[in-house]
Amino acid sequence: MRPARALIDFAALRHNYRLARSRHGGRALAVVKANAYGHGARQCARALADIADGFAVACLEEALELRAAGIRQPILLLEGLFAPDEIAEALRHDLWIVVHHEAQIRMIETTELTQPLTVWLKVNSGMNRAGFLPQAVDAAWQRLKASGKVGDITLMTHFARADEPHVITTSAQIERFDAATAHLPGARSLANSGGVLGWQAAHRDWARPGILLYGADPMPGNGNGLKPVMTLESRVIAVREIETGEPLGYGARFVAERPTRVGLVAMGYADGYPRVVPDGTPVAVDDICTRLIGRVSMDMLTVDLTDLPDAGLDSRVELWGSSIPVNRIAEAAGTIAYELLCNVKRVRFEYRD
Ligand SMILES: *Cc1c(COP(=O)(O)O)cnc(C)c1O
Repeated sequence: MRPARALIDFAALRHNYRLARSRHGGRALAVVKANAYGHGARQCARALADIADGFAVACLEEALELRAAGIRQPILLLEGLFAPDEIAEALRHDLWIVVHHEAQIRMIETTELTQPLTVWLKVNSGMNRAGFLPQAVDAAWQRLKASGKVGDITLMTHFARADEPHVITTSAQIERFDAATAHLPGARSLANSGGVLGWQAAHRDWARPGILLYGADPMPGNGNGLKPVMTLESRVIAVREIETGEPLGYGARFVAERPTRVGLVAMGYADGYPRVVPDGTPVAVDDICTRLIGRVSMDMLTVDLTDLPDAGLDSRVELWGSSIPVNRIAEAAGTIAYELLCNVKRVRFEYRD
């Protein structure tokens, strides 16, 4: 069997959820959209079921997957409704919906309902992607109430730069949200992971932690005590020596600058390991840090074993996990940990308590 696998550590996931909840206070929706950021939504939701106040996903389909897996906690649809026929399904499965656009209010107004919907009304406090502008929040709230089809309304907003400590835009978003909603009743929800870890003023009734649950700190270096949940690993499946001046792999990007012992690893971009990372990107072989050399190919990549005399055939190779933070690879790839984690595929997933 091909040795490429993703080990998912439920104890770390639970630790990170508890940490988020205690840092923030109040309650926390565990964000498990996009297949729990690539970790397996059903499995992760089950592992959190006895401690999580609820879950958040992008859409109805993702929520139904969790209901089918036996998840009974509240589930919030972060993008809300795409079409009016989703309302009946949302009610049948006891789902909460974000309302972020006027068209969604119209869907609610024009659909016959058998019971009230639980709504999270989204305020555009400055990200300008989704939500009602501060001056339109009151009218949106009044229309929802006047429809007679909506029960509780929670007020929410989302930050554009919460992962950047001390930037003024996040404070400005908080102030705009508060000013727009001061006269309205209901619970509040502001903080994503960055908000939980870096913005005390954003701590309200509900947190919405996502990336931090998976142990990728959105503000690395701050000693937040998160534990990595995914270890992406494989094994050395061949070893060869190349002479000084000899090329390695596609495009001959790497040329040996000394006699080099090369380990061939069963992991490639088809597994979600990014192709764009340069020579020198860290990998851990038998828990010792060495470097990637040569272009990443579809199914394989190559690592430098020259200084690791004990490493060889069958040695364990960690691409990211507790030895190599996924943030480090994201940096090498010019992206963020979110994208790398979401992209993991083809490898075998193994879950541990
Ligand atoms: C994805 C998402 C989150 C979680 O964000 P993280 O940065 O992963 O913590 C929270 N709120 C909303 C509205 C989202 O779309």
